[in-house]
Amino acid sequence: MEIPDLSRFSADHPPSPYSFPLPLKRGDEWGVGRLPDGSILVAAGWLGNSVTSNGPVPDDVVDLLLDAYETNAVFSDGTQGWHDCELCPGPEAWYSEGKVGPLISWHGRQIRLYGHGHHLLQHGPTTYMLPALILHYILGHGYQPPEEVLEAIVAGEFLYPEHLIWEPYSNID
Ligand SMILES: [Zn+2]
Repeated sequence: MEIPDLSRFSADHPPSPYSFPLPLKRGDEWGVGRLPDGSILVAAGWLGNSVTSNGPVPDDVVDLLLDAYETNAVFSDGTQGWHDCELCPGPEAWYSEGKVGPLISWHGRQIRLYGHGHHLLQHGPTTYMLPALILHYILGHGYQPPEEVLEAIVAGEFLYPEHLIWEPYSNID
């Protein structure tokens, strides 16, 4: 899925790349998650079949993205299956040891990304939405997110489900 960097969504857009509500579980109950009022949703890292910006990314940014992924600061968008990387030459980049998704090796850490869902990163009033594959785009394809996103990763906070406004499905028409 391709979205140009720093695209800004309308105020009523769910915190998802899709226009349908973000499904979110609280306890045992399913509902929808929303951003707090006044948040501005901005996308970054949704590459299609080309890397629009190449360059170095500071080590601490990579560390923080790994932390976010490992602590499950990842929201599912409610779709089935996973996103493929349109930049990788073929499935061999994605399937190893019988598992799906690119293997990330970084300073002695190793994780396998699953290309589903996204991070939400709050910095001031802006909520940046980054695909779960962003680490693969950075380490595997040399992608450099916009400067303000690099700053937000260091100075802002990754959101977890409890940070969103939640409403049970039963309250929604
Ligand atoms: Zn790739």
